[in-house]
Amino acid sequence: MEDGKARRRLKAIRTRGAAVLEQARRSIDIVSDGEQTRQHFENKQTVLIRDRYEASVPSVVGAVERKAPVFVEDAKFLRTLTDRQIKWTLPGPMTMVDTLHDGYYGSREKLAWEFATILNQKARELEAAGVDVIQFDEPAFNVFFDEVADWGVATLERACEGLKAETVAHICFGYGIKANNDWKATLGTQRRHYEKSFPLLQRSSIDTISLESHHSNVPLEVVELVRGKRVMLGAIDVANQQIETSEEVAETLRKALEYVDADKLIPSTNCGMAPFPRNVALAKLNALSAGAAVLREELVGAQV
Ligand SMILES: [Zn+2]
Repeated sequence: MEDGKARRRLKAIRTRGAAVLEQARRSIDIVSDGEQTRQHFENKQTVLIRDRYEASVPSVVGAVERKAPVFVEDAKFLRTLTDRQIKWTLPGPMTMVDTLHDGYYGSREKLAWEFATILNQKARELEAAGVDVIQFDEPAFNVFFDEVADWGVATLERACEGLKAETVAHICFGYGIKANNDWKATLGTQRRHYEKSFPLLQRSSIDTISLESHHSNVPLEVVELVRGKRVMLGAIDVANQQIETSEEVAETLRKALEYVDADKLIPSTNCGMAPFPRNVALAKLNALSAGAAVLREELVGAQV
């Protein structure tokens, strides 16, 4: 028992330490542990996710409740590894509802409000553990437009209620798995999905909006719709292993400056890079850092 525990602890130190070190080496300002602490559940059922692909997911079999903090120890540990800002990612209420089988509530909205309350408790604990940036992933916002307007943004705001940490809504077209890539191929050259959620988010209490850009066929003028918010802009394609050049990254960011002030622009990846081999993910992180540096120099140069 004790041996197993010690081994797991050692593994955690090695893998998360490596993730933090690789980010620090590349001067990444907001550091995460690479989401190595994602949880697995019992009572799985197969459902259709995002109207797109089937997956085996947890099933709600009774009233949902939060038993014990899940991530707090992991967050505290990450806090000890770096002095930089740290980010923790949680699923948003709508995306949670869409990623499980409900055998109890019979209402997506009702279940979303329950999750929002629980997520808010989790987020407050993470903030107390020293997390600076709390990101809620809401890829479902690019699919269920009516629900986004009815209760999606409202439940997300509930999840963020009272937080002093920076809050982020990450809305993407999914990471590079086949079902997502096939779906993206059907979306044409003008993906206007963000036009539905951004006006609502602009009026919301959420601090930062995270969106896809590079290779995503998203018209950049959608960024104008969240004017005043901080914008985490995806300048790295996660559906393709081709490594971006620093100039490509800089160009994506440069174009966005027409719609967002430079001090509110946070260069990022389109989504997570978990499906990539390590060397690809690290090379893409290099490109992100180098591209941001190119633009930073230009902006500093322009001020002199
Ligand atoms: Zn994403």
